[in-house]
Amino acid sequence: MSVSSQDVRLHRALKQYFGFDAFRPGQQAVVRDALEGRDVLAIMPTGGGKSLCFQLPALLRPGLTVVVSPLIALMQDQVRQLRENGIDADVLNSAQDAAAGTEVMRRLDNRDLKLLYVAPERLMMDGFIERLQRHAELSLIVVDEAHCVSEWGHDFRPEYRQLHRIRAACPDVPVLAFTATATPRVRDDIVTQLHLQDPARHLASFNRPNLFYAVEEKTRDSYARVRDQARRGGSGIVYCSSRRRVDELADKLAGDGIVALPYHAGLSAAARRDHQDHFISDAAQVMVATVAFGMGINKPDVRWVIHYDLPKTLEAYYQEAGRAGRDGEPGECTLLFSLGDIHSAEQMIRNKVHPATGEPLEQEQRIARQQLREVIDYAESAVCRRTIQLRYFGETFEPPCKQCDNCVQPRPVTDCTVAAQQLLSAVARLAQRRERFGSTYVIDILRGARTEKLLSNGHDTLSVYGLGKDQPVAWWRQIVRALLHEGLLAETSDGFPVLVLTEGSRAVLQGRRTVEVALRPVKPSKGPRASKAALQLEGADARLFEALRQLRLGLAREAGVPPYVIFTDASLHAMAVARPTTPEAFAEVPGVGARKLEAYGEIFTAAVRDFLTL
Ligand code: ADP
Ligand code: ZN
Repeated sequence: MSVSSQDVRLHRALKQYFGFDAFRPGQQAVVRDALEGRDVLAIMPTGGGKSLCFQLPALLRPGLTVVVSPLIALMQDQVRQLRENGIDADVLNSAQDAAAGTEVMRRLDNRDLKLLYVAPERLMMDGFIERLQRHAELSLIVVDEAHCVSEWGHDFRPEYRQLHRIRAACPDVPVLAFTATATPRVRDDIVTQLHLQDPARHLASFNRPNLFYAVEEKTRDSYARVRDQARRGGSGIVYCSSRRRVDELADKLAGDGIVALPYHAGLSAAARRDHQDHFISDAAQVMVATVAFGMGINKPDVRWVIHYDLPKTLEAYYQEAGRAGRDGEPGECTLLFSLGDIHSAEQMIRNKVHPATGEPLEQEQRIARQQLREVIDYAESAVCRRTIQLRYFGETFEPPCKQCDNCVQPRPVTDCTVAAQQLLSAVARLAQRRERFGSTYVIDILRGARTEKLLSNGHDTLSVYGLGKDQPVAWWRQIVRALLHEGLLAETSDGFPVLVLTEGSRAVLQGRRTVEVALRPVKPSKGPRASKAALQLEGADARLFEALRQLRLGLAREAGVPPYVIFTDASLHAMAVARPTTPEAFAEVPGVGARKLEAYGEIFTAAVRDFLTL
C-alpha cells in the first residue's frame, strides 16, 4: 500500500472510531510501525494520547490485542471509553467475580474481542498464555506503563518482570511498550526485560503546549488564591505535602461553599475510593491531596493544578502538574513557594536517618538536596518555565513559550549590587563578632528594627543598622534568595539556618562582581494570565457550554460512567462554538465517531436547537 493511501486509511479510521480529525504529534508514526509488525518502545508525555497509538492498530489488524496494564481503575476506564465508541473490549483481573471472568473467557474463545485488558498477574496465571495461543488469533501485545518493569523506575512491579514469558510463548507477535516516564536507564531496562527485538523507538516531545505554568510567592493570602481559582470553575487538584494541611485546606474550601474533598494515605481505602469517584464523576470539583493521589487517574478534564507546597523533584512537579489538561484544552499549573517552604524541605531531608541507628542516610540526603536545589532553581528563575522543564528531560526549547508567567510578564532585571553589599557586610560584621544569624534577623538589622533581641544584642550600633529601611521585608527576602541562589551567600544549619559568607561574597563586597536580580513585584499584580488559561468561552458560547455540560452530566449519571467517557470538555467546547444542529454538522465535532454520532447526535443537536430558539 502506498504511503498516501495508507494515510488516508488511517485518518478515516481515526475519525470513524474516535471522532478525531488529526493525529497528535508522534501518534501516527507509532501507529505505522505497529501496523508493520515491528516491536515498539514509545515514550510520550501524559496527555500525549498513548492509548490511541495501540488501539488504532488493534482495530486495523485482524485478531486480538492483549493490553497489560498495572491498575484496575485505568483498565476499566479505557474499556468503558472503547465500548462507548462501539469497540469490543473487555477486561480480566483478579478483582472480578467468577461469572464475569467466565464470560470474558467465553468471548475470548469465540474470538469476539478486539482488545482485552489484563492485569499482569492474571496473564501469568496457569494456562492463560497457552489459552491465548490456542484460541485467540493474537495480533499484538501491548505493555502499558512499561516503566513498571524497571527497578530504576518509580513504580516497580515484580509481576512485570515475568512478562517476557508471553514474548517467548508467542515469538511472532509484536510487543508494543508505552510509558510516560523514562530516563535512559529505565528505557534500556524496558527493552531488555521485555525482550524487545530491534524496537522502533519513539520519543515524543515532553512539551505540553496547552498548559500555563506559573510560580507565585506564598503569602498569608495563599488560601484566598486557591479559593479564587476554584471559584473561576473547572476541576482542580491542590497538592499539599502533609495530611494535616490537606485536611485543613479541604475543610476551609468546603466552608466557603466549594465542593472539595481530601485525599491522603491516612484515609480508609473506602473513603479514598469514594472521594476519587466523586472527583472523576464531577460530583466534587476540587481534590485536595498529597501526592498519593494521581497515579491511575485518567480524568482528562482537570483544568488546574496548584502546588501548595514544594514538590520533591522537578520531574515529580512536571508529572503532577501534568495531570491538568490531558484533553488538550487549556490547563493552569501554579506552584506556590516561600523561603519557609525551603527550610521545611531541608528539615525533612535532615530527618532522613537510619531508623535503627539514627545515623544520617548520607547518600539519600545528598540526592534529595540536589533534587530540592533543582526545584528551587526552577521556582526562582526568571527564565521561561517551559524551557527549564524541558531541559530537564534533555530537550531544547526556544523561549518565549508565551504560556508561562516569565514569558507573559518578564521580570525586569535590576542592579542590586549596593543592597547586596549592605546585606553581605551585615553578615560580615556579625562574623567578626563570631555571631551567626538567620536571614530574618539580618534583614531586621538592615531595616533598623527595634526588637528586644536585637537591642539586647547591641546590634543597633552596627554601621549597617537601618541602611535598608526603605525597602520592605519581602523585597529583602528576594535579595537573600537571589544571593543564596547564585552562591554569593550560603546558609548552614546551627539547629536553625544561619547565613555565612562564601568566596563569591567577597567578590561582591570588594566591588569585583555586580549582582543583578529579576525582582518580582512585592505585591503580585493580578496579571492577564488567568484569562489566558481558562476555557476561552464568553457570553452565549459559555452558556451553551454549560447547558451541554449539564446534559452530559445527566447522561453520565444514567449510564453510570464518568462524564468524559460520553464526551470530553474539548468536544463540548467545539460544540458550543460550532453549534451543530444537523447530524452532518455534529459528525464534524472532534470526538464524534460513528458510534457517538448514532448514540448522541439527536439529543445533543436538539439541545443546541433549543438553545438557539430561546
Ligand atoms: P495518555 O495515556 O498519553 O496520557 P490518553 O491516551 O489518555 O493519554 O489521551 C488523553 C486524551 O487525549 C484523551 O481524552 C483522548 O481522547 C485525547 N486524544 C488522544 N488522541 C487524540 C487526537 N488525535 N485528537 C484529539 N484528542 C485526542
Ligand atoms: Zn515561557
